[in-house]
Amino acid sequence: MQFRDLQRQYTKLKTQIDAGMEEVISCANFISGKQTGDLEERLAAYAGTRHCITCGNGTDAISIALLAWEIGSGDAVFVPDFTFFSSAECPAAAGATPVFVDVRPDTYNLDAEKLEEAVNRVLAEGKLNPKAVIAVDLFGLPAEYGAIRNVCTKYNLLLLEDGAQGFGGRIGKQRACSFGDISTTSFFPAKPLGCYGDGGAVFTSDDGLAELIRSICVHGKNKDDKYDNVRLGRNSRLDTLQAAVLLVKLKAFQDYELAAVNQAADFYAQLLDGIPGLAKPFVPEGYYSSWAQYTVQLPEGVSRIEVMTFLKEHSIPVMVYYTRPMHRQKAFQDTDSEKAFCPVTEKLCSSVICLPMHPYLKEDEIRKVADTLLDALKDQNAV
Ligand SMILES: *Cc1c(COP(=O)(O)O)cnc(C)c1O
Repeated sequence: MQFRDLQRQYTKLKTQIDAGMEEVISCANFISGKQTGDLEERLAAYAGTRHCITCGNGTDAISIALLAWEIGSGDAVFVPDFTFFSSAECPAAAGATPVFVDVRPDTYNLDAEKLEEAVNRVLAEGKLNPKAVIAVDLFGLPAEYGAIRNVCTKYNLLLLEDGAQGFGGRIGKQRACSFGDISTTSFFPAKPLGCYGDGGAVFTSDDGLAELIRSICVHGKNKDDKYDNVRLGRNSRLDTLQAAVLLVKLKAFQDYELAAVNQAADFYAQLLDGIPGLAKPFVPEGYYSSWAQYTVQLPEGVSRIEVMTFLKEHSIPVMVYYTRPMHRQKAFQDTDSEKAFCPVTEKLCSSVICLPMHPYLKEDEIRKVADTLLDALKDQNAV
């Protein structure tokens, strides 16, 4: 069993993916080929934004958004304490100060009430200018954008949706990667929609911003002349080969993968229901997840290391996302981190494990994971 089985996916899609790649190679349009433009149109249509601009990876996508907004020194950018490093790395690398905010104990996503408290604390201190919020769709579930947007409106903050793990999720009918003033995603192979290398995208419905972002992605080029450089930018583009792979995978994602991964989640939930003290993932009413991860919290007092060892001994691959709160990362020791008070994140970092999860997981495999997890807990006299 694999944690995320990309080989099974390739076996199923091989004919189309191979043909797509061959077409790119025979046309030799490796950078900004037709497939890249086609993909951008389909991604924007799917997410429900006016524009999608693909780029080199999900980290670049965040940095490019911050560059477009000219965020830098003296600015406070509010970031969940429980996330992947990039969400906080990018504002810090831009010269801004990441301010770490605790997450909700039920969804593990940015807590809008704590966000407002953090904004007020920064305002009262008077040293930094509250500028933007980076909300993360952790493990595939959209953050509470209604409440977060209200805080942004009240304090005049820009909203960036880090949808690196969120592509395919939705709240009601509105899809992920459309909630921010700018939204971003990643096509790293293990993400809900992944390519065969690095890739990313930026989404916005603001025409001016979209044009600016296109310029930034290609060395600050002028709209019509690549060699007329009107600002400093980056070199961050999605290879045409990756776009060809993604065109095939996006269709499979829409046709059946997203439904299949939700079926797998339902089956896990049903099987894990009876285990006392184990917290299953929570999906609020009206929300839909794309299940980048299936993350559970182990019962109080259980040794995570021992549970993981037991599972691995029974050939069940498990991971921990994440072991360290952002504010405890050494890279942030000189920032605002000593003021961060994030007990929910602390607890999650010491108690969560992520189980195998992907659209090609079979029912008997899910049953084996659930049974073995129960055995592991029994082994520790936890249930
Ligand atoms: C993976 C990830 C990123 C970065 O994406 P890359 O394509 O690996 O650069 C950013 N934010 C979150 C929340 C992620 O999970």
